[in-house]
Amino acid sequence: MGIIVQKFGGTSVANLECMQQVLAKVTSAHCDGANKVVVVLSAMSGETNRLIDLASQWSTRPDSAEMDSLVSTGEQVSVALFSMLLKDAGYNARSILGHQAEIKTDSKFGRARILDINSDRLKSYLEEYDILVVAGFQGINCDGRITTLGRGGSDTSAVALAVAVDADVCEIFTDVEGVYTTDPNLCSTARKIPKISYDEMLEMASMGAKVLQIRSVEFAKKYNMTVHVRSTFSDCNGTFVTQEDESMEAVLVSGIAYDKDQIRVTVCDVEDRPGVASAIFLPLADAGIVVDMIIQNTSRDGKTTDMTFTVPRNDLEKTQEIINRIESDIKASEVLIDERVSKVSVIGVGMRSHSGVASRMFESLCKEGINILMISTSEIKVTCLIEEKYTELAVGTLHDTFELDKEGHVCT
Ligand code: ASP
Ligand code: MG
Repeated sequence: MGIIVQKFGGTSVANLECMQQVLAKVTSAHCDGANKVVVVLSAMSGETNRLIDLASQWSTRPDSAEMDSLVSTGEQVSVALFSMLLKDAGYNARSILGHQAEIKTDSKFGRARILDINSDRLKSYLEEYDILVVAGFQGINCDGRITTLGRGGSDTSAVALAVAVDADVCEIFTDVEGVYTTDPNLCSTARKIPKISYDEMLEMASMGAKVLQIRSVEFAKKYNMTVHVRSTFSDCNGTFVTQEDESMEAVLVSGIAYDKDQIRVTVCDVEDRPGVASAIFLPLADAGIVVDMIIQNTSRDGKTTDMTFTVPRNDLEKTQEIINRIESDIKASEVLIDERVSKVSVIGVGMRSHSGVASRMFESLCKEGINILMISTSEIKVTCLIEEKYTELAVGTLHDTFELDKEGHVCT
């Protein structure tokens, strides 16, 4: 007998009508008893935001442990309601909360990491029931307190549960058809990608492609669990996120991602001596600010240089506070902040074995008159920082240049 894990996001369980579509997916996976099904649900759409908002009316700085007790209730509602539907339809099913499934996490409330899942416990539940409906997003720490896994965390619950029960497949159902070559709202020729490697998906997710929580992809990669991202509202195959293979390497670029949620900070004329970079970036790291692109200019006079980097827009205030505090120590002449920037990346494992992607990217941006403000590269990604107003133009032109609109595009 097979075991199938199916996760449904907030828009898939938004109301009774949507849940009935979920019921159809789950019962068809159950296939008259051929498979056991572990269903992982998110809170009904908008519910987690409503709860966060509620807390802010009660407290200016809500206690983080109580916050997790509060926001985890969204998933409790979904699993109980959905189990009622299953039982009314005659299925041997029950709901299970994170602590009942013994999903053990660390104690970082609001962004806890899964440490262990009691798979024996789950397997014994699976012997007793045909369909288990598990609350996503939540776990329990070593003190028995409820924790949550960060926004979008039900994806990670699903992958972790799939690993724990040794599932045949982990299907993540959502309101889009899969992972696209780029954002279809920005580029009308964006195509669904049939198969993408874990590493490419990680790069896409870190650039803000919201279809999967980053940690779920890290988990899937670590345990080599193939994830099928697909739509609740259609029967088509979606995107398989899986191990890299040769056919993937033949494709030069798999996707174009962008991120408008970055700002550029330039600390001007800092001393060119050992210790200046760490004086800037240590306190930023201690404050939990994720610095992305960093450029230190070559010093022309051997005495001073400029340090430019990007941080998430949400961290602007914290970044400014920190830089103000250290400004005199590093003898900066001024600090420039540019909020109207956007990061655009081309991503593909094919870059590992082919050259020329960066130059084609620069040429294509140049043809559109788009100035590049910063550049960074990794093994499978080239990123340019540009003015925000050019984001759509840049994404469109890069999508064309790398022929992502063409079925089975290959490197030329
Ligand atoms: N309900 C949580 C959120 O809105 C977790 C999830 O949906 O994956 O972030
Ligand atoms: Mg989600």
